[in-house]
Amino acid sequence: MKNERRTVIPIKMIFKIILFPIVLVKLCNQTLKEKTEYSIRLKLSLRYLKILLTTSLVSGIGVILVFTGIKIQAGVAQDYLGLAPLLNKGRIENAEIKAYSREHLIPIQVYDFNNGLIFASETDLLEQTGPSQIVPVWTKDQFFLPVKKTVLSSGTLITVVLYSDIKGELLEAYQLGRIIFYVFSVALLFSVWAVILSGRGIFQSIGEMTQTVRDISERNLNLRLNVSGSKNELRELALTFNEMMNRIEDQYNKQKQFVSDASHELRTPIAVIQGYAVMLDRWGKDNREVLRESIEAIKNESENMNGLIDKLLFLARHDNNTFVFQKEEFSLTEMLQEIGKETQIIDTIHKINLEIEKEISVYADRNMLKQAVRIFIDNAIKYTPPGGAVSISLDIKEKSTEISIRDSGIGMTKAELEKIFDRFYRSDQSRTKDKGGHGLGLAIAKTIILGHKGKIRVRSKVGEGSEFILILDRIQHA
Ligand code: ADP
Repeated sequence: MKNERRTVIPIKMIFKIILFPIVLVKLCNQTLKEKTEYSIRLKLSLRYLKILLTTSLVSGIGVILVFTGIKIQAGVAQDYLGLAPLLNKGRIENAEIKAYSREHLIPIQVYDFNNGLIFASETDLLEQTGPSQIVPVWTKDQFFLPVKKTVLSSGTLITVVLYSDIKGELLEAYQLGRIIFYVFSVALLFSVWAVILSGRGIFQSIGEMTQTVRDISERNLNLRLNVSGSKNELRELALTFNEMMNRIEDQYNKQKQFVSDASHELRTPIAVIQGYAVMLDRWGKDNREVLRESIEAIKNESENMNGLIDKLLFLARHDNNTFVFQKEEFSLTEMLQEIGKETQIIDTIHKINLEIEKEISVYADRNMLKQAVRIFIDNAIKYTPPGGAVSISLDIKEKSTEISIRDSGIGMTKAELEKIFDRFYRSDQSRTKDKGGHGLGLAIAKTIILGHKGKIRVRSKVGEGSEFILILDRIQHA
């Protein structure tokens, strides 16, 4: 032992060796995070692997540390066990200690209470560890761990330092570390493979979804995402997307239909005007009757077109959300009486009944509401044969105000009732009888009433008549 070179091992160094892999993982992760832009799949895989690696490292190091600690403690206790009877006699015999040291190959140093060396079994060990600083010593074949014991010898306190060789324990720890490393490496390889495979299914469907979304255009708005397969968040996303596409497609088709219907409606008055213009050109200069009839027809048709364009503009502005209601509080009673009287003056072929007694106010856009009520009254008159009755009534309920427009007219079938609020819808009967409408009146009235958060209830029976009830919020005064 005398000829061997011994090295002092600082404890800090051991910690550095243990912490190195952890710091390395952290550093790698930081650098990768900062410098590279990943795909979600790669990011997720790396995150899982990081968790796996950290857990493996921590648990591996933990097992090795606990195992080594227990082993070292047992080894040191064993070394001390033999020496204990010699130290606990009350007087320490250097010869006995020296003999014990030689027999068990355990270097021992004894110091007095002033830290002065009394005895050292191996003097060359003093070069590395001695009175000034007692530290672990490492040689090629041994690793000495100093263990201090303070005992009483001939009435004075002395310190005995026993250098326990823990090289065997460290070797065992190293072997265990190697086994753990191999087992964990295989497990890690398997995990990498499993993580890569696990992401494949999900990301494959994301790829397919992206492709489908890319393919959706104005021409094939009917394309939808595939929602078959597992029930996970992606399916939820696909379902929501499909629902959104259904709404967009529906809206798009409606818009297309609206434009085509509007063009069609505008074509008729233009054709009429053109026809009369040709007639005027040919015979109008000489024939006063043709002149009068043509001017009358052109006036009527242009008026009709004007009305139609106003209606189209209203609906278009409402669709674009550029329409704003000018709401105020006003007397509904007064407004309905006004419309009722006007109707009685204009229409003399029907019996117009007004049941508007109670004074009721509402908070609404007066002009718009008036327009809506007019639409219902005009229809009631239009679809009620001469001599029939049209009744306008106003009532107040617990939470609502109700305007009713009832007629004794032609009524509607159940199938017609379902469509009357659609834009450009006119029942076959009203088309053939040429009542002059465009099928936009009820669509506009509905927009106005719903815009006031109101409701429309319809009751109708063919041959008996119809009733439209407009339900509006009652003003709640504090
Ligand atoms: P129109 O300008 O054709 O009257 P509307 O949108 O106002 O357009 O009405 C749509 C259709 O609803 C009408 O064509 C008609 O068939 C039916 N309708 C509306 N009101 C009544 C009513 N009071 N009695 C019978 N049918 C009605």
